[in-house]
Amino acid sequence: MKKKVKAAVLEEPEKINIQEFPYPKLDESCILVKMEMSGICGTDKHLYKGENKFYVGTIRETTAPYPIIQGHENYGVVAELSQKGKKKLDFYGEELKVGDRVVMGCDVNCGTCYECRHGFGYNAWCRNFKTYGVTISCKNYPHLFGGWAEYMYITPDVDIYKVPDGLLPEEAVLTELIANTYALDKAKEFYAMPNEGFASMDTVLIQGVGPLGLVSAIKARILGAGNIIVFDKSEYRIEMCKKFGADYGVNVDKTSKKERIEIIKDLTKGRGPDVILDCIGIGEVFLEGLELLRNGGLFIEQGAHAETGETVAFSPHRHLLAKSARIIGMNNHPSWGYVPTMELMLKYKNQFPFSEIVTHKYKIDDAKKAIEKSMDLDTIKVVITP
Ligand SMILES: [Zn+2]
Ligand SMILES: [Zn+2]
Repeated sequence: MKKKVKAAVLEEPEKINIQEFPYPKLDESCILVKMEMSGICGTDKHLYKGENKFYVGTIRETTAPYPIIQGHENYGVVAELSQKGKKKLDFYGEELKVGDRVVMGCDVNCGTCYECRHGFGYNAWCRNFKTYGVTISCKNYPHLFGGWAEYMYITPDVDIYKVPDGLLPEEAVLTELIANTYALDKAKEFYAMPNEGFASMDTVLIQGVGPLGLVSAIKARILGAGNIIVFDKSEYRIEMCKKFGADYGVNVDKTSKKERIEIIKDLTKGRGPDVILDCIGIGEVFLEGLELLRNGGLFIEQGAHAETGETVAFSPHRHLLAKSARIIGMNNHPSWGYVPTMELMLKYKNQFPFSEIVTHKYKIDDAKKAIEKSMDLDTIKVVITP
C-alpha cells in the first residue's frame, strides 16, 4: 500500500504547490478512486484567479475555501472499497468493485432541503451542496476531495457512474462537461409552447467556443439544430468547432458589433437566432446576444460561473420586453445526465472525434503550467494525469 498521496494544491490564488497527504483509511461506505484523468474547467480558472464566490445572491451563495485540490471533471478506477457499512453502489444501484472504471458526480446534494425535496434535479439548486474540487478545502483529513491527485476519497453521498466499455479515458473525462449541455435539453422543453424554445432546424448561435461552447455545438447538432453559428476570438477554436459541425464561424476580433448584427441578419432572414447560448459570461457579450436574439427567442446564460463584480447596462425595455425575450440561467447539469452523456459519446464517436477535444495533457507536478496553458486560446480541453 502506498504511504503517501501526491496532489496539486491551490494554496491561495495563483499559488499551486505539490503536496503529499497520508494514504487514507476508509470510513464506512466510502471508496478510494485512483485517478486516471481530470479536466480543467472554467471554474478552475476562476478559482485560480481568486474569483471564488459562486451562486452569489442566492440561498446557496458559497465562498470556496483555499487550500483546495482542484479537479471536478474526474475519471478514475475504483482502488479500494470500505469493508464497513453499506455496500457502495453506482448511480443505478449496481454494486461497485475494485477495478471498475468510473466517473463521479462532482456536486453532492443533501437530498433533504426544500430544493432537493421538490426535485429540481439539476445540480444547481440544493442549498447544502458541496462540489468536489471546488468548495471542499483539503485542509482537513482525509484531504483528497479533488481530482488533481493520485487518489480521490469518495464519501457515501457522492454519485458514481460506471464507464461503459469502449469509452476512452479522453472521452470519459468529458462526461461532466458534456452533461452541462443539458441546457439545450432544457431549451427543447420550452418548445412545448408554440414558437418558443428550441425546435428542429432552429438557428443556434453560440457565443464563445471553448470546451463548453464546442460540446454545446455538438449537442445542438445531435438535437436537430439547423444552422449553428459560433462567435469566438480564436480562429483555432472556430475551426475546431466547424470540424465538429458548426456551419458558420465569426471572429469577434475581426468584426465590429455592427458587422455581426448584419451577418446574423443575413443568416436568419432578418429574424435573429432562435436560440443563443452565452458560454463566455461577460457583460458586453450578454447584451450583444440579447440584441441579436429573435423576437420571442430563447437566450441561455451559462458562461458567468463566478461573481466577478461586473454589471451591465441592461434595458428592461430593449433587452427583454420589446422582443419578449426568454432568458434563462443554467449553471449546472442534472445528476441523471452522466450515463446518457457517455452513451451519446459511444453512439456518435464515429461522427464526432470526441477524444480530440482533449488537446493538452499535463502531469500533476505541472498543474500550474496546465492551468496557465488552459487560458490560451489555442487549447480546448486541458487535462491532468497522475
Ligand atoms: Zn466545471
Ligand atoms: Zn439539498
